[in-house]
Amino acid sequence: MRFRNAATLAMIGTAAWLGSLAGARLHARQLPPARELPPTTQGPPQQGTPCGGRSSNPRTPCQSDVDKMMAALPDKAPAKPLAPRKVLVLARAAGWVHSSIPLAAKTIEALGAKTGAWSATTTYEAADINAANLKQYDAIFLDNTTGCFLDDPGDKTATAARRQALLDFIRGGKGIAAIHAASDSYHGTSCDPAQGYGAGGGQPLWPEWNKIIGGYFKFHWNDPQLITVKIDDPKSPLTAMFHGQPFEIHDETYTYNQESFSRDNVHVLTSVDYAKMSDEDKAKEKDPRSDHDYALSWIRREGKGRLFYEAHGHGERVYAMRAMLEHILAGVQYALGDLKAGETP
Ligand SMILES: [Zn+2]
Repeated sequence: MRFRNAATLAMIGTAAWLGSLAGARLHARQLPPARELPPTTQGPPQQGTPCGGRSSNPRTPCQSDVDKMMAALPDKAPAKPLAPRKVLVLARAAGWVHSSIPLAAKTIEALGAKTGAWSATTTYEAADINAANLKQYDAIFLDNTTGCFLDDPGDKTATAARRQALLDFIRGGKGIAAIHAASDSYHGTSCDPAQGYGAGGGQPLWPEWNKIIGGYFKFHWNDPQLITVKIDDPKSPLTAMFHGQPFEIHDETYTYNQESFSRDNVHVLTSVDYAKMSDEDKAKEKDPRSDHDYALSWIRREGKGRLFYEAHGHGERVYAMRAMLEHILAGVQYALGDLKAGETP
């Protein structure tokens, strides 16, 4: 990492750094983006009614989405695993619950099973993030984990232990791969949803985590926003599937506060080609970053461990795109330590 005032930052620490930066922005409030509707959880599934995460069985993906994902799976992983690998998919959302959560979990299970890169177990329980349980895993996949996803508001001790277990996991040499709304976590005004958690931006609520994941959600263009994705590091094995060529995607696309995301903190793989966006779309975001730097995927080291993040993955259609599945596969293999890649910010 490179900071202009590294010596000062080392003294005041990351928490104070993020806290002061966010504090400076508090006066520049903007209206939060429209909130999405909660998933339907009542009534038996009927023909024509929502399935997957919107259904009465929100932990089971729609078969039609699974079929499309299975058809798009790559055959081979980019790296041979150095050892048998185990991935824990954490699918717990404490804020907005994405309909694609069960499909994303199934995708990680299927990617590992088909390519032999890992075996995956899915949990919806934050309590599974504990030191004893995590010993058996090599990476955690954060599946749209919104809000203060590890916290138990009624148990401060358990909350602190889970947070510490996650920090120790990655800093001790293991990996975290995270998709889409995993960055809509630990920011806002309070970890208590009743206090208004959920607006874009706000304050960092767990600065160590906010820095590890590389940014927190400020605004989103609504699904199905058309984005031209630019390949920032065409030499990385994590972008090899894109062949250095920009591509178009329709999804819900996040932006990050200038303060919460910085290329000084992460190695960017892909980003929004902002010049290709219409003026009308650009205008939808109030108070945009002055640098117009809208990264979409990145990697970074944390202690002895590694983080991979991909911002798209809101809608089910993303999991039917072969190149995106290859990108996620490579990202998880990077997090596992099996795929080496340039990671200098
Ligand atoms: Zn979303």
